[in-house]
Amino acid sequence: MSKTLTLKDIDLAGKRVLVRVDFNVPLDKETGEVSDDTRIVAALPTINEIIERGGKAILVSHLGRPKGKRDPKYSLEKVAERLQSLIGKPVTFVPDCIGEEVEKAVSKMNNGDILLLENVRFYSEEEKNDPDFSRRLSSIADIHVNDAFGTAHRSHASNVGVARYLTSVPGFLMQKEIEMLGMAIENPEHPYVVILGGAKVSDKIGVITNLLEKADRILIGGAMMFTFLKAQGKSVGDSLVEEDKIDLAREILQKAREKNVEFVLPVDTVIAKEIAAGSESKVVDLEEGVPAGWKGLDIGPSTIELFNKKLSDAKTVVWNGPMGVFEIDDFAKGTESIARTLASLNDAVTIIGGGDSAAAINKFGLAEKVSHVSTGGGASLEMLEGKEMPGIKSLSIEGGKKKRRLMVAGNWKMNKSPNEARMFAGFLASSIGNENAVDVVVFPTSLSVAGVADILKDTSIKFGVQNIYPADSGAFTGEISASMLSDLAVEYVLVGHSERRHIFGETCELTGEKIKSVLKHGLTPIFCVGETLEEREAGRMKEVLETQIRKGFSGLGKSDLERIIIAYEPVWAIGTGVVASPEQADEAMKFIRDLIASLYGVDLSESVRILYGGSIKPENFESLISMENIDGGLVGGASLQESFVQLVAIAESHA
Ligand code: ADP
Ligand code: MG
Repeated sequence: MSKTLTLKDIDLAGKRVLVRVDFNVPLDKETGEVSDDTRIVAALPTINEIIERGGKAILVSHLGRPKGKRDPKYSLEKVAERLQSLIGKPVTFVPDCIGEEVEKAVSKMNNGDILLLENVRFYSEEEKNDPDFSRRLSSIADIHVNDAFGTAHRSHASNVGVARYLTSVPGFLMQKEIEMLGMAIENPEHPYVVILGGAKVSDKIGVITNLLEKADRILIGGAMMFTFLKAQGKSVGDSLVEEDKIDLAREILQKAREKNVEFVLPVDTVIAKEIAAGSESKVVDLEEGVPAGWKGLDIGPSTIELFNKKLSDAKTVVWNGPMGVFEIDDFAKGTESIARTLASLNDAVTIIGGGDSAAAINKFGLAEKVSHVSTGGGASLEMLEGKEMPGIKSLSIEGGKKKRRLMVAGNWKMNKSPNEARMFAGFLASSIGNENAVDVVVFPTSLSVAGVADILKDTSIKFGVQNIYPADSGAFTGEISASMLSDLAVEYVLVGHSERRHIFGETCELTGEKIKSVLKHGLTPIFCVGETLEEREAGRMKEVLETQIRKGFSGLGKSDLERIIIAYEPVWAIGTGVVASPEQADEAMKFIRDLIASLYGVDLSESVRILYGGSIKPENFESLISMENIDGGLVGGASLQESFVQLVAIAESHA
């Protein structure tokens, strides 16, 4: 299983770290000062970790809903001041989040410095997750740390978009949220008790249906209970009921019975005529029901006792939604008692989700006594609903972020006679399973391809040829055409290999023609690019790659590009035994991706597969394929031997 990278896995020294924090704090309407700094305090461990390890912390956040416009009401300037006094170090505030001023400020940073950028939602591109905006945001940093769990259910530029360009790891806050809530939805320890309350059934339908699949017991309090009680035919007086959810409540009760989930409803309630402090109140038994003119505003003492009993043996507890109108002390007893019970459960993992529930546990001063109080209101609900969280999904996976299917391709070059090729293909067919999570392709000589095709026809191993000439037929002595390959079920063609460029003098123009011909016949080109040692040493690597790519792609549209695979093969690493370092290879490939993004858009640059080629061996493949931008290998020498099978296995472990 792949695992999300953490802050601890990342080298931070000297790195520019773009930290998405949740500084969406309340500001005093008159003074503009921060009126509650809980969220700033919560981000301190992550910020301190970054600066203590020599990183440059560039903080970015949203505040309020400025609707994509610059609005001083929502400026983060006051937040910078508060952060500075909390962290005891200078915090530089930059009144923008992209552009020249930001670049200048970042370039002046020393290791351990802290910068806070202006509200990212001053740009409408943020919430649109605009690719160009994401690219600009990411351009000032080397790494992205996402500590804003509160936005994890949203796909925005500063949490998700930038992860297309930068390795993105969770901050400490985010990591704890993922661990705790993830555990509660994936592998809770049993007995697993869920407590639900709050205002509306309709807000919590998703949570109920998801947790019905996992919990052993569900306890219902809050206004929500009255919809269930009414569904059972009880009288609920003037309590809050969602009439249109009564059928649904009945279905939920039915489903709980089917699933053998114990569904526990209150047996008594505190009622009053008004939702107001000091309003006359009393406890009624729910068998008798709530009289007309009265509303149920809290769970009663017998219910508290019942719930306590139902919690006593719990190993996991998730609580979402207060038991009553806890904002008013007269109706806060139920919520407070349950909070105290949770705080006393030493043997259980206790998790609180939901904005008001968190406010309640804070009000009673019990936040430290439970295992976890989620900082994300809407985000924690969506997570408990079992929804996919874009802000978590975008985090980098250890072993590289492989959204793309991996490929291991073997270029046999001018090796193996037709008989040897058939024998080796037979060996591969028996050694490589048929259910591969990666694409496996071999490139025998044109002379052997028919024989190899025959051997591999019922396997998952694919094959291709090493070269074609870009005409369908004619007076081209020694060549074969793409159109001929359809007889043999060939799928791939290598184009622009450095040996063809350098030994046979193939030009970029001819390479471009070959790509077109391959595409025209419905085959997939593996387009090879790479710089020589001389070019690299002269600092021309990027220029050479750009020329090869622009010329190779000339006249091709986006739909053509969707069918191309690129292989980056530094010429100095082919057959020399010198292998590019994973960082060198990744850097070149990132350059290629960025170039493709600028030519054909970010979507394509994200989906295009780029293989590394050059002295790949089982010993070095692991570290190469772990890189974010490397989607596999085009293997030379090691593809002629059993080591090819090992390479496939290594790729499989990353798929
Ligand atoms: P969370 O934010 O934790 O998900 P909700 O927003 O669903 O919780 O619900 C919290 C609100 O529910 C509180 O404002 C509380 O006053 C209200 N509430 C709880 N019980 C009742 C009740 N019996 N009648 C009316 N409102 C209630
Ligand atoms: Mg709420």
